Amino acid sequence: MSIKQQTLKAPISFSGKGLHTGVEVTMTIHPAGVDNGIVFRRVDVEGTPLIPALCDNVTDTSRGTTIESNGVKVATIEHIMSALWTLGVDNALIDIDAGETPIMDGSAREYAEKIVETGLVDVLMFSVNPCYDLQPAGEDVDALWADESYAKALHNIDPERERLYELCERTGVGIDVMKVYGGGDLLSEANSPFGRALTPVQCIEYALTRPAVAAVMVGCKSREEIEAALAWCDAPAAARDYASAMAGLERFSWQGHCMYCGHCAPCSAGIDIAAVNKFYNLTAAEEEIPETVREHYKVLTHHASECIGCGLCESRCPFGVEIVDAIRRAAERFGY
Ligand code: SF4
Ligand code: SF4
Repeated sequence: MSIKQQTLKAPISFSGKGLHTGVEVTMTIHPAGVDNGIVFRRVDVEGTPLIPALCDNVTDTSRGTTIESNGVKVATIEHIMSALWTLGVDNALIDIDAGETPIMDGSAREYAEKIVETGLVDVLMFSVNPCYDLQPAGEDVDALWADESYAKALHNIDPERERLYELCERTGVGIDVMKVYGGGDLLSEANSPFGRALTPVQCIEYALTRPAVAAVMVGCKSREEIEAALAWCDAPAAARDYASAMAGLERFSWQGHCMYCGHCAPCSAGIDIAAVNKFYNLTAAEEEIPETVREHYKVLTHHASECIGCGLCESRCPFGVEIVDAIRRAAERFGY
């Protein structure tokens, strides 16, 4: 169900002279998503062309390794490539403003040191959508698709999946989502196990509101499908609202369980209820509140202790969450 790849936790920059050209160059290595690979981007060339660091793109190895794509080159890539490879960086986008990398001290040492200092983040890639989430996690893809798997009543996200989302969030592992439309079935009333169609925007919103999800990969076969997915970027809250489509289904329910949908907003006290619930749930299995969660909670504009108990949010929650109690528990747990 998963393939683990790594990228940098944050961008890092290097400046210096190119060994063979003597040109001053700045090179910035950015984190990149799953299956990006190592890709150079010549930011000094019109159109900022990309040059993937692939064997097929190697055009010269006489005094260093040069790669080239569509007539645009980057030379002397061997030192940065060896540092990335040795330290297990699978994915990175490298902006460079000249045709040769900076030579630094002549070895990969400075590159390696900065990569180690910055740290790596694991990226986990797996399928996320509301119908899969109802099923126990497993390697058998056929079972996730099978009609029999949805023949019985199903209630809430499978606990193992829930734990995986929360573990990733707590430990800083990003999730890249596949199968966001359930292979297209979720977009069709006839094919969806729910007997109700979701829109591409609702499916993408659902995935992006799971803990730890950092990116969604959407398979598109046409311009229309690309536009339907990109519509998420400008979609208003009403168009993103998957909760209304998932509420009141016959055999499937998420009753009493916060889905982080945000349907209960706006809070009278300005609290981001979905975020507070999410952070509280991330602490539930822990004796001590993880530092990352504490920090995320701290930067919220309003905190759980500001709740005035008006109850307006509860009447708006399609999943029957007892929000006032949940917010009170969060205030006790975080202390404010
Ligand atoms: S409390 Fe209800 S409405 Fe609010 S985010 Fe959670 S599930 Fe959605
Ligand atoms: S009960 Fe609390 S959390 Fe809900 S809307 Fe009122 S102030 Fe906000």
